[in-house]
Amino acid sequence: MDYELAIIGAGPAGFSSAIYAKRSGISTVVFDRGSGGGLMQIAPNIENYTGFDSIRGVELVEKMKQHAAKYADFHFYEEVKEITASSLGFTIRTEKATYQVGAVVLCTGTEHRKLDVPGEAELLGKGVSYCATCDGFFFKGKKVLVVGGGNTALIESIFLKQIGCKEVYVVHRRDQFRAEKIYEEEAQKKGVHFIFNTIVEEIVGKGNVSSVGLFNLETSERLQLAVDGVFASIGVLPQNHIAQSLGVKLDENGYIVVDAAQRTSVHGVYAAGDITGGVRQVIIACAKGAIAALSSTEALGKKYPY
Ligand code: NAP
Repeated sequence: MDYELAIIGAGPAGFSSAIYAKRSGISTVVFDRGSGGGLMQIAPNIENYTGFDSIRGVELVEKMKQHAAKYADFHFYEEVKEITASSLGFTIRTEKATYQVGAVVLCTGTEHRKLDVPGEAELLGKGVSYCATCDGFFFKGKKVLVVGGGNTALIESIFLKQIGCKEVYVVHRRDQFRAEKIYEEEAQKKGVHFIFNTIVEEIVGKGNVSSVGLFNLETSERLQLAVDGVFASIGVLPQNHIAQSLGVKLDENGYIVVDAAQRTSVHGVYAAGDITGGVRQVIIACAKGAIAALSSTEALGKKYPY
């Protein structure tokens, strides 16, 4: 066996899982197809992680990375392609090698949902973005539109205003946001324009985004709004293809079903973080990642350390 435990995904759940696994005497490897951090990497500021009044997402990622590196082998930029059951536990096939492990913790998180409108794919990187923190600076002094009504949409609109976008619009398909009131009020204070009951029908531009076609669901009116950038902040979808290949049970929205010990429906496979749905918060992902690692002791025939 190469490692007793493999953790797939180095976001907050994966980092804390690695720390708790090694401290329980489990040899651990962590795979991530990128540089790690998950969606925390693109959070402008995290203000509800205990012990930190306010910390930039990238900074918290760096702190977690350095902490967890003391405990496990991290294989960044190594995407896991497939996991299958084997006599020792599981065979993990990545784009670089094959590994034998005894148990698995899936912390694969979520990815951005797409608008699925004409122009979106063609103008990606040419005005269309899914991350204001990453790409917002290119739009200083310009007009931008954020799509969505959740926390992310409102937080991104505030960020875009703060960095000096000339006009920031938030377009939402309902008559009220689902975001926390505090973000709505701050966006309003900053001068963000809200457009309710409206959907984006198309994104237009030759080379770069120049306008969006909007449709008002109440009045059935159509409007072409001149903007230079479109940030789609319409939520996330579970990255569940590895779970599916393992035959792990998913709920109706594609999230992995786990019990209180973070066990999945497949013996020896645990899951934690956003991939398990529920309240998607860094602190909760960390806690569930820790529980998953501790629970893996049972599949590995080790003593539960607490
Ligand atoms: P979200 O809460 O799921 O909101 C997605 C928004 O996009 C909803 O308003 C939804 O509209 C809209 N939407 C979905 N599909 C759409 C489509 N095809 N066209 C137009 N609009 C569409 O997603 P999120 O804001 O990314 O947040 C994800 C999770 O992270 C949430 O649990 C959130 O609370 C959490 N989060 C927390 C914080 C924080 O605590 N500081 C910060 C960021 C995110 P409907 O309202 O009509 O469904």
